[in-house]
Amino acid sequence: MIPFIDLKGQYARIEKDVDKAVKNVLMHGQFILGPEVALLEKKLAEFAGTKYALACSSGTDALLMAEMAMGFKAGDAVFTTPFTFFATAETIALTGATPVFSDVEEDSFNMDPAKLREAILKVKKEGKLTPKAIVTVDLFGQCADYEAISAIAEEFGLPIIEDAAQAMGAVRNGKRAPSFGKIGCTSFFPAKPLGCYGDGGAVFTDDKALYDTMYSILVHGRGDDKYNNVRLGLNARLDTIQAAVLLEKLKIFEEEIRLRQQVTQWYGEELKDLVQIPAVKKGNLSVWAQYCPRSPRYGEIQAALKEAGIPTARYYPIPIHLLEAMKFLGYKKGDMPVAEKIAETVFALPMHPYLDQATIKKIAGVIRSVVR
Ligand SMILES: *Cc1c(COP(=O)(O)O)cnc(C)c1O
Repeated sequence: MIPFIDLKGQYARIEKDVDKAVKNVLMHGQFILGPEVALLEKKLAEFAGTKYALACSSGTDALLMAEMAMGFKAGDAVFTTPFTFFATAETIALTGATPVFSDVEEDSFNMDPAKLREAILKVKKEGKLTPKAIVTVDLFGQCADYEAISAIAEEFGLPIIEDAAQAMGAVRNGKRAPSFGKIGCTSFFPAKPLGCYGDGGAVFTDDKALYDTMYSILVHGRGDDKYNNVRLGLNARLDTIQAAVLLEKLKIFEEEIRLRQQVTQWYGEELKDLVQIPAVKKGNLSVWAQYCPRSPRYGEIQAALKEAGIPTARYYPIPIHLLEAMKFLGYKKGDMPVAEKIAETVFALPMHPYLDQATIKKIAGVIRSVVR
């Protein structure tokens, strides 16, 4: 059986260092906000090129902290993409704000700047909601079009929150995710490009005031003293043990990003005549959180791969605006034609830095036997 994401192979490589780092935490006993958390935050900020990073309990809580810090509330319109993981829109709605979807680009699967602009103008014209912010997503490891989106954000005076849960370390024109938004968010869920051994996440910003607010929200809205609560917050801390694991994984992360380029190049060479292979847009270096080709025959392909012991997945079978949980927003089929079209043909193949060429040839061979 070929693993979809090979965390065991990665652990075998760093086993000694990880075991030692975890043991060290077990010995010093500072399980909550121990020294590894502060060190990790310093290294994460250096890596992303932001002034501040704050580690937290998940990518979902990273988004929620960012959105609470910016004061999202009922009556606000927050512009985002319909083709993403549910948490992007879920957290917006949890703050009481209204997620407003605009369609994606067919090549990158990311937010289409022209459609975003139309959506903002429509909300302004209707006058029911107040435009508040834009939440972008760097889907499958590739940055959105930040030159165009930032220009629109500036035109309308809207801050950007960057959901880089899948794109930690991705590069666009020399700049690294998650540094494109006023606040950037990432996830350390085990299957993400940089994952820990449980749930984890982080927020990134250059803005001291927003950092201070998120630092407070992280621990129940603490003030100068933790029992002098000055706002409503969360318990959203990252465990010290997870920080210790991440410090070890961060050491090999740049090399793993390079290995991911090799793996996806092999995939591309093998698959380009068989399915529609994923595109990386000019100026982007993807961290390839997922390798998602498209084919109208994905069902047959998935069945044949399963038969051969090769796992697959589908991200995402239902665009967010059509999910039951978002029904209250009143969208219907046909509202986001590009996202809906992608959802009808997209599927995901095994993707991790330690895939070898022989395995990729085997996967391609099965796909070839179906489509030829
Ligand atoms: C994984 C993911 C999240 C949520 O991260 P968790 O750590 O699982 O809470 C949010 N947005 C996107 C785009 C994701 O892929």
